[in-house]
Amino acid sequence: LQPRRGGPKNLPIAEVYIDDDEAKAKAKPRLVILGGGWGGVALLKDLNPDDYNVTVISPANYFLFTPMLPSATVGTLELRSLVEPIRRILSRVNGHFIRAKAEDVEFSHKLVEVSQFDHKGKEVRFYVPYDKLVIAVGSATNPHGVKGLENAFFLKDINDARMIRNKVIQNLELACLPTTSDEERKRLLSFVVSGGGPTGVEFAAELYDLLNEDLTRHFPRLLRNEISVHIIQSRGHILNTYDETVSKYAEERFARDQVEVLTNSRVKEVQPDKIIFSQKQEDGTVITKELPIGFCLWSTGVSPTALSQKLAKKLGDFQTNRHALETDTHLRLNGAPLGDVYAIGDCSTVQNNVADSIVSFLRKLAWSRGIEPETLQLHFSDWRTVAQDVKKRFPQAVNHLKRLDKLFFEFDKDQSGTLDFGELRELLNQIDSKLTSLPATAQRAHQQGLYLAHKFNKMAKISDAMLANDIRDGDLDAAVYKAFEYRHLGSLAYIGNSAVFDLGEGWSMAGGLWAVYAWRSVYFAQSVSFRTRSLMAMDWMKRGLFGRDLVA
Ligand code: FAD
Ligand code: MG
Ligand code: MG
Ligand code: MG
Ligand code: MG
Repeated sequence: LQPRRGGPKNLPIAEVYIDDDEAKAKAKPRLVILGGGWGGVALLKDLNPDDYNVTVISPANYFLFTPMLPSATVGTLELRSLVEPIRRILSRVNGHFIRAKAEDVEFSHKLVEVSQFDHKGKEVRFYVPYDKLVIAVGSATNPHGVKGLENAFFLKDINDARMIRNKVIQNLELACLPTTSDEERKRLLSFVVSGGGPTGVEFAAELYDLLNEDLTRHFPRLLRNEISVHIIQSRGHILNTYDETVSKYAEERFARDQVEVLTNSRVKEVQPDKIIFSQKQEDGTVITKELPIGFCLWSTGVSPTALSQKLAKKLGDFQTNRHALETDTHLRLNGAPLGDVYAIGDCSTVQNNVADSIVSFLRKLAWSRGIEPETLQLHFSDWRTVAQDVKKRFPQAVNHLKRLDKLFFEFDKDQSGTLDFGELRELLNQIDSKLTSLPATAQRAHQQGLYLAHKFNKMAKISDAMLANDIRDGDLDAAVYKAFEYRHLGSLAYIGNSAVFDLGEGWSMAGGLWAVYAWRSVYFAQSVSFRTRSLMAMDWMKRGLFGRDLVA
């Protein structure tokens, strides 16, 4: 049976219907989801099993529980415990899985162009047709144009974790050999993390735990003081997107644990045996430094995938954000035919309209004082109220907020101590261009996936009636369901047998072992399945009883 061909490139067209009754399946809208990560899987979890003909396309045939990935690198958790087969997740909705990579989308033909390598290693391409498409392809590692990254390790995927684990063990083993010189041993045992965000910090903490808890037992020849862990951070503090108390706690903790934190430092190059970086001194001068490396982790933030970049370019003026695909507040991809294509998770951002929300806030303020908005003179204390409002709505703006205070004085050009409307407008434009509206977190991707599931469920019920009433061209999304609203449920980071919580709106907590358990239970609850939960519980128990398994 030859597949039908078509589309702009005349490629084979894949059509699969999974149902007891094929005719029934064919009548359902085809929902195609690109990516089986946090966003895609959250959508699958709450979607009604009977309403759509679902296909997931992803190069990975598993969902990865990323928050626990740093634990897996040092053997605290088994790699297997962090993954959940996509097909298992899909079976609830009778869905179909295609293991391949999305390369392009033909919006006017409603076709996804997909690639895979065949049994001879030759690339093959085909189309997958959709009625509704959800883009949830996540993000890529940001190279920041640094040289020599082939000498660094990344932590995005299960294979990365496996490679890191092998490397750490190998370095410890080589360091023990009688033929290894003192200098070489020092290098092998120098672990450098580039990036002081949650991933880098948690990896450093896990590594430190490993070195402290298991090393003396399993590598008695190694001296603790020969081992060093360093974090290189470009900003003034680590965990700088978190509340200040959290980042302070982390820094104090690391200082006590002898994990070196190098702030205001930029990596220039990673060589096979050393890392070169520049560090800004307190007097403003910049000096170049280097550290020997036995291992270097590169975790300095995210950038768009090749697919995201391609689609953004294709949609031209509708897509102006360099960091992510822009959607409207109903999560519809800007510039694509309305109601066909959605984007969620790390690959996307909701057009933020911070400026709009501030302007409406200012209007209210003006009216409440009985004056016209255009004649409003904003004092610094008013500005702080505005800034608090921004912080509440855009919690990831916390670190920008510290600068919001400075901005006030910067934009008060005539130094009158107040901002007039013109000064305000310029200031708002600057905020708008600087603020990416939503954080790249599992929490956000999960919320957006659930949002789409609930909306799609509702649409499936309503659309027949709507079509019958001939409002086919209306804004169905807005008619059936509310706009997406992000709820910040706080962030957590794990730091050496303790956890720090940033609960937003100035709330933060830090604590000892009880906090670790609270932390684990939060992630337990977010986890996708009982299977994963059980596996992780067993891993933790095993580690508690027997220590980590240090085998490559
Ligand atoms: P992902 O979960 O990355 O999923 C993307 C999916 O798309 C994958 O299945 C991928 O294989 C697939 N894909 C990629 N390209 C294509 C393509 N061209 N075609 C088809 N499919 C494609 N967040 C938190 O909230 N808390 C944490 O503690 C936390 N810790 C983290 C620790 C680590 C080590 C990492 C790497 C991330 C962590 N995050 C955490 C961030 C979180 O994992 C991401 O924000 C989240 O995964 C985003 O979900 P997503 O669905 O957008 O993308
Ligand atoms: Mg996803
Ligand atoms: Mg994932
Ligand atoms: Mg995504
Ligand atoms: Mg002024």
